[in-house]
Amino acid sequence: MMKVSRLALLAVLLLAGACSHKREQSADAPEAMPPSELAPPPEPPGPPPAELWKEFSGRRAFAHVKKLVDFGPRPSGSEALERARKYIVDSVRGAGWQVVPQEFIDRTPRGPVTFVNLIARYGNSDSPQRIIIASHYDTKIFDTIKFVGADDGGSSTGALIELARVLALDPGLARRVELVFFDGEEAVVQFGPGDGLYGSRYYAHVLRETARNRQFKCGVLWDMIGPSDLNITLPTDSPPEMARDIFAGADSLGVRKNFSYFRGPMLDDHVPLNESHIPTIDLIDFDFVYWHTADDTLDKLSPESLRVVGEVTLYCLRRMPWL
Ligand SMILES: [Zn+2]
Repeated sequence: MMKVSRLALLAVLLLAGACSHKREQSADAPEAMPPSELAPPPEPPGPPPAELWKEFSGRRAFAHVKKLVDFGPRPSGSEALERARKYIVDSVRGAGWQVVPQEFIDRTPRGPVTFVNLIARYGNSDSPQRIIIASHYDTKIFDTIKFVGADDGGSSTGALIELARVLALDPGLARRVELVFFDGEEAVVQFGPGDGLYGSRYYAHVLRETARNRQFKCGVLWDMIGPSDLNITLPTDSPPEMARDIFAGADSLGVRKNFSYFRGPMLDDHVPLNESHIPTIDLIDFDFVYWHTADDTLDKLSPESLRVVGEVTLYCLRRMPWL
């Protein structure tokens, strides 16, 4: 995640929009579903739990984060990220979701890089998805430190894998959700108009090109949600109604103390979605003192924090008029 001033943000957005048509699109085929993927997911054994949010396991989410961290540093284009990708795909498919890789090549300050977003949808219903829930799964590349991104890249991705399992307990809700694992959130050298947010910019670009952006009512981004002393700092560019509902949901679940406002806007993967007219909120703890250091390791995180974010998100999905 990076933060910038409003002016810089505007410049980046203008440039990002201007550059987006230059991206290679040949490998993109988010709608192409191989026949083996079309089998209906297994139906859960009973009716959806009345309090679905209570099914979210911080312990399970944490175990996924540990698996991801065990792959080591996972920058875009690396073999470690390929292994992480396979782990995500296998886990999410195992919960009954179809996963479509969205591959593209973009120029970076270190040369062309192949990026792969992962898009997961539940079942083969014709009804369109209405809400995007996303995380980035790459970690920032460093030449001088070993950066495993337990929180930055790991925490939200592990939690999103667990969310896929819980949503599958309520197929009617799951079919309305599109889960997206973004590649290339991190800048390859230093964040700027052409460096960073590669995956979300491309995903949003394709949504606009195909007019699929119109089918979505909103989006929720998770990023850096695992610190033991969790303080979700909602950016000031959050859609106001969604921020209000997140605070209300947290209040209802007795975890309001873990949520506050950040002192400004953020430049993160929610921005390209907001620019595509999909109101998207970024649930992020940007008070994390180990951000982009070698100390962003598993011991700084807690399953409880992952559970709090998972529960509040699920509670809002069930209780709030977002869908
Ligand atoms: Zn980062």
